[in-house]
Amino acid sequence: MTDIITALIDGETISAGEAPIPVVNPADDTLIVELPEADDATVDRAVAAARRSFDEGAWRAMAVEKRQAVLRRCADLIDAAADMLADIECANTGIPRAQIRNRSILRAADNFRFFADYIGQSVGALYEQNPDYLTFVRREPVGVAALISPWNSPLALGSMKIASSIAFGNSCVLKPSEQAPLGISKLVSILGEAGLPEGVVNLVNGRGASTGDRLIRNPGVDVVTFTGGTPTGRVIMRTAGELLKPATVELGGKSANIIFDDADFEQAVDGALLGIFTNNGQQCLAGSRILVQRGIADRFIEAFVERARKIRIGDPLDAATEIGPLVSQRHMQHVLSFVPGAGAEGETLLTGGRRAPQFDRGCYVEPTIVRADSNDRRVCQEEIFGPFAALMVFDTDEEAYRIANASRFGLVSYVWSQNIARIMEAQERIEAGIVWCNTPMMRELRAPFGGYKDSGVGADGGAACEAFYTRQKTVTIPRRPIALRKLGV
Ligand code: NAD
Repeated sequence: MTDIITALIDGETISAGEAPIPVVNPADDTLIVELPEADDATVDRAVAAARRSFDEGAWRAMAVEKRQAVLRRCADLIDAAADMLADIECANTGIPRAQIRNRSILRAADNFRFFADYIGQSVGALYEQNPDYLTFVRREPVGVAALISPWNSPLALGSMKIASSIAFGNSCVLKPSEQAPLGISKLVSILGEAGLPEGVVNLVNGRGASTGDRLIRNPGVDVVTFTGGTPTGRVIMRTAGELLKPATVELGGKSANIIFDDADFEQAVDGALLGIFTNNGQQCLAGSRILVQRGIADRFIEAFVERARKIRIGDPLDAATEIGPLVSQRHMQHVLSFVPGAGAEGETLLTGGRRAPQFDRGCYVEPTIVRADSNDRRVCQEEIFGPFAALMVFDTDEEAYRIANASRFGLVSYVWSQNIARIMEAQERIEAGIVWCNTPMMRELRAPFGGYKDSGVGADGGAACEAFYTRQKTVTIPRRPIALRKLGV
């Protein structure tokens, strides 16, 4: 029986609301639950709870050692519930359970441990150049954070937002994606046992345009952080801008994966496969535009396509499954709409391109690879967000950089070469917030993760989150009594 969590406010579960959202298992299209949406009054109550807990100050004034201990207990509770969370998340998203269990849930627990460690080392600044004064700069928590998260990795991304906001003493209200609310709602519900004061972490479920918009606009919210699609990011920035609320938006990508002719061939093939087919291809950081140098292109394409054809597609609960169903029928139709039709110009379907015919039900799409003759093709410019790679062949390094940068996105990029000088040149030339060299998807939580161009504004990561979730306060004190000019004497 699935818990019905419309909202979690002050530790209380609310299971009533309006306009129920059908939450579906994409592996067999069955309805898991009809989840009532949090109405306006519930959203306002959640913000009021966060506001009250922040203003009363039990959490932000707590000794850092104690706050660290609570954050570490959050991580331990997630570890202890890992199997249950994996089951729920798998049923709701279709992501292979093994990937959820071994990646997302470890990451969710790590997010809390990382920020627990981080706050133990936070420092302010001191200016003492002026011999008569000391000026120091402190960081204070910013208040109540509205956290809006997407469906593609709810546990990892939702927990990152919670951990990074509350670690610095803030209170928060999370609104997960209405497509995949179940796992992250359960995760938030188990945090109740960690010793967080009431009202520090709250959650509301509902659709973006109703519940999400209400949350952002509530005057009790001080900052907004959003991860999701670029069009939604623009709406959120506009709303936050009108209200003068600081906002970070982490958005989509169409990341270039450049394979130079001196790459370690096996590693490049393995890395390219992982870069596009992990998480059912539904990753902002997918290496979805594969650029391969002409000298090795035939051999690479042959190996890449052959391996993609052998990827095991199936029941996401099966430990052997490498690709499960996409998140919904609607999203499956979106992905399939990019498959070039018969006689399409400039795009050649090398494998896949259909709903996997061996399944009667569910949202299964075959790993799909399209070779494009130009970066201007639709498959090279738009975020498809599925197991769908666009391949291009280039001749010179200059051409590779030109193609890589000819995109409105700039989230991550991948470079494969055994020549360190080439790697160093590439990391400078590529317009993207993250460059992975000879490795796929190595997330260093200490370092910023954020995109250039239409891939976002702001970043996650240790110092980046500290800057966003705190305000600086400058305090000046004379070192000894000072002679003040006397007015009116
Ligand atoms: P989405 O933009 O449709 O929705 C994201 C969230 O925003 C959901 O919770 C939704 O309910 C909410 N929302 C929608 N409209 C809103 C509004 N007007 N006001 C407030 N909230 C609103 O994105 P999605 O389809 O859930 O996620 C997929 C997208 O997320 C992809 O583009 C992917 O690249 C991106 N993504 C980016 C990163 C990153 O770190 N850059 C990470 C993961 C996913």
